[in-house]
Amino acid sequence: LPWTEDVSWLLEKSLAPESICLLRTLGERAEKLGMRAYIVGGIVRDLFLGRDNLDLDIVVEGDAPRFLKSWEKDGLRVSVHERYKTGTVVFPGGKKVDVATARREFYEFPVAQPKVFTDSLKHDLYRRDFTVNAMAVSINQSTWGVLVDFFGGRRDLGKKILKVLHNLSFVEDPTRVLRGIRLEQRLGLALEDNTLRLLRSCVRGGLLVRLSGFRLRSELELSFRERFPYPAAKRMEELGVWEVLFPGLRLGETGRRTFRRLGAFLGRISRDFPDFRGRQWLAFFSALLMESPENIRLAAIDRLNLPESERGIVVKCLSELGAVEHELGGRSGPSNSQIYAFLRDADPAACLFWSAATGRWRVRRRILLYLTRLHRTSSLLKGRDLIELGYGATPRIGAILEKLKILRLDGILENRDDEVRYVRYNFPL
Ligand code: ATP
Repeated sequence: LPWTEDVSWLLEKSLAPESICLLRTLGERAEKLGMRAYIVGGIVRDLFLGRDNLDLDIVVEGDAPRFLKSWEKDGLRVSVHERYKTGTVVFPGGKKVDVATARREFYEFPVAQPKVFTDSLKHDLYRRDFTVNAMAVSINQSTWGVLVDFFGGRRDLGKKILKVLHNLSFVEDPTRVLRGIRLEQRLGLALEDNTLRLLRSCVRGGLLVRLSGFRLRSELELSFRERFPYPAAKRMEELGVWEVLFPGLRLGETGRRTFRRLGAFLGRISRDFPDFRGRQWLAFFSALLMESPENIRLAAIDRLNLPESERGIVVKCLSELGAVEHELGGRSGPSNSQIYAFLRDADPAACLFWSAATGRWRVRRRILLYLTRLHRTSSLLKGRDLIELGYGATPRIGAILEKLKILRLDGILENRDDEVRYVRYNFPL
């Protein structure tokens, strides 16, 4: 068949042995149940690009719920959406595998091996966004490693282009505009001429306006969670996407510079902040808004329908930059403990934003110091050490530890002995 090719060598070469083993197990199970299973979408694309992709998306020609439930008997955690015929199974070690039913005609199954590759797979792939994302690789034993590429995804990867499958693609789902820009920048592909024309007319035609706040927010979040979000943001600007999404928005040199710095600082931020990754995009969103007038900012925040907590972070980012600069910009102060006290209640995403948005190097240096080191400073003595020293388990212990932390932040107490001596002298039993 002209649209198939044996790429088993590529699987063996590119995937970790555990992943191969998992895929073989999945394929064997599918075969046993009389179904066909494929890896699809991003993981196939990234195989050819030599990029790691940890998302394991499987499509079965057959019935995904039945396939999924078969793993329950092996004691694995399975969740199933009967309505969409999709679900997830979690393998030992925590590996999550998403399984979907090749859409259309799934009611024909299970059947005794009709054709090798059926229309349902083709239809499933046809619903996807770009040709490079519309390839599948069979993982059944008998057809292990056969690439199924109906729409020329492989050819387009070779040409380094991103191409929609049909002319109504962006009309059908305008989020593909944002996905397209994101993938173009991340993968170093170029939107193919006709695709770019269709994308532009989708933007001009106002189709993005119809996107719900929730979907828009999800797409923006993904764009701003990229390793380097700036190129996509710049491309959105060029293509007039920001103006359509947030009319009146002004992204000038300050916003752009902040954006670039955010990308650069991100890697330096300590990983200790809980859930930081889920909120870091808010710093980028704030950078996007920082040069626009208040009413435009508020309209943009409303447009995304953010939950109160996230809304609060963005508002704080934008409204408190001046106060932060005032507080942390002194020539000779503040001390480390003062920096700590000032920033400890702020969200780390806001701190990140301020560090990138300020034009004052002292302010930037102090915030980064907080984000990389100060925030996780604590006294060397712990509560139980104090109890061993004879202190009662009362709130006084908290107060002592707090005092020790401050002195350690400022470099006054350097080691454990210093701390013990200080406590004995200043907090008599
Ligand atoms: P990423 O690495 O960002 O996760 P991905 O391509 O794997 O990239 P997912 O969002 O995980 O992206 O989507 C998985 C697959 O689902 C895509 O490869 C694509 O085939 C398909 N897909 C996702 N969103 C859409 C959409 N809006 N329209 C059509 N197909 C989509």
